[in-house]
Amino acid sequence: MATWQCVKQCGACCHLDPQERPDLEEYLSPEELKLYLSMVGEGGWCIHFDHSNRSCRIYPDRPRFCRVELETFRNMYGIEPEEVSDFAIDCCHQHIESTYGRRSIEMLRFNSEVYGASGR
Ligand code: SF4
Ligand code: SF4
Repeated sequence: MATWQCVKQCGACCHLDPQERPDLEEYLSPEELKLYLSMVGEGGWCIHFDHSNRSCRIYPDRPRFCRVELETFRNMYGIEPEEVSDFAIDCCHQHIESTYGRRSIEMLRFNSEVYGASGR
């Protein structure tokens, strides 16, 4: 069984372009939506994303909607703890595909980490 993990040197989920996430209002509160939109910078990337090393400059203080945590996923998406890993893997696939492409090195690295050396 695959277990979700975040892979270094990715950052696909920090590409916040609202056009690629039309359902934001379904899971963000009005305040969070305002915060989300205020974070969208050049090219749709989060203003807190450090492109030089593909990391978050405010990681300890990142908003709730950036966190892959059991309670957050239950509250935001209605996902039960036992389903969080599969759900998070699907989210990463969507983000990586839309940001880097289905056959990108980022997708290969993610699948290799999550599913093992043989990939998906
Ligand atoms: S898309 Fe997934 S693997 Fe990539 S940075 Fe975000 S959480 Fe990590
Ligand atoms: S706050 Fe950090 S984790 Fe959240 S989208 Fe921006 S760079 Fe990514």
